[in-house]
Amino acid sequence: MNDSDGDGKVSRDEWRKSGDIFDAIDADEDGYLTVREFKAFFEGGGAKSKRKKQACGGDASSGGPKVGLDAIDQTTKGAFFAKLEQMDVQRQRGLLESGLVPVYPDNADCPEIDHPFGEPWRGPVPNRIHSGADIPAGWDAPLHAMADGEVIAIYREGGGKSFRGRQVIMRHTPEDTGLPVYVYTLQSHFNAPPEVHVGQRLKMGDYLGPNGKSGVPGKRRQPHNHLTVNISTSPNYVVTDSLVIPVDGHFIDPVALFRGETPLDTHAMLALAEDERRVKIAYRDDKGNTHPPDAKIIWPFVCEAD
Ligand SMILES: [Zn+2]
Repeated sequence: MNDSDGDGKVSRDEWRKSGDIFDAIDADEDGYLTVREFKAFFEGGGAKSKRKKQACGGDASSGGPKVGLDAIDQTTKGAFFAKLEQMDVQRQRGLLESGLVPVYPDNADCPEIDHPFGEPWRGPVPNRIHSGADIPAGWDAPLHAMADGEVIAIYREGGGKSFRGRQVIMRHTPEDTGLPVYVYTLQSHFNAPPEVHVGQRLKMGDYLGPNGKSGVPGKRRQPHNHLTVNISTSPNYVVTDSLVIPVDGHFIDPVALFRGETPLDTHAMLALAEDERRVKIAYRDDKGNTHPPDAKIIWPFVCEAD
């Protein structure tokens, strides 16, 4: 543990990891992590799980198969709470570079990924792996639902416990995407509170809110959408006050979604032949046309037709 002053508990200053994990473990919210709280969290399935069912990210009216943190196994927990000592578990759950290369359209201008999935994170905490792909675009550029699906969580405030500022997390069923798994898309750093609500069914291309950089530390980074995609064979998920964890969830490269077929997982992507790693992005243009017309998953930003 990080108990540098040897008093048998860990204060926030001694804790060197991200605040959302600290808060999740700190069951009695006294600002100190005790051995008992560690044990309850990592062996007992999350000390605060009962309360989390009601707390739920500030906007939690959901229908949908939302379950408690005790439904999440230790491997999934290790991967999603991103503990540095469990990076092997994170890799096992797909959090590594995939080798996929997005191919953007010739006849339209799409905001492009500048910081890919699986690279070392460029934030203030060293040794973390980037769990999504960053797509920079102008202030307030509209963000859209990437597929039909349900809004399952919203983090409306830029600061506080939310690690990625304002976020919308959607769950897409196999019927929504044509893929044989449940797909979760997390879009983040909105400039203003998202204009959708939990439990709402959206169509592909529906407006979510304006692009921004809420939750982004430092001044140098421009506004961007950090897009994280998870998949699971289970329809169930947990919403905590800082993140959504699908039961048995895996991380995938968001670019893999545009293959339109399985496999999607990172380890399978690494086994693909060179030419199979080039993946054409499906998108909607500023005239409202979808390319290709039968796409069930599109780029989160509109692409300007030439
Ligand atoms: Zn990012």
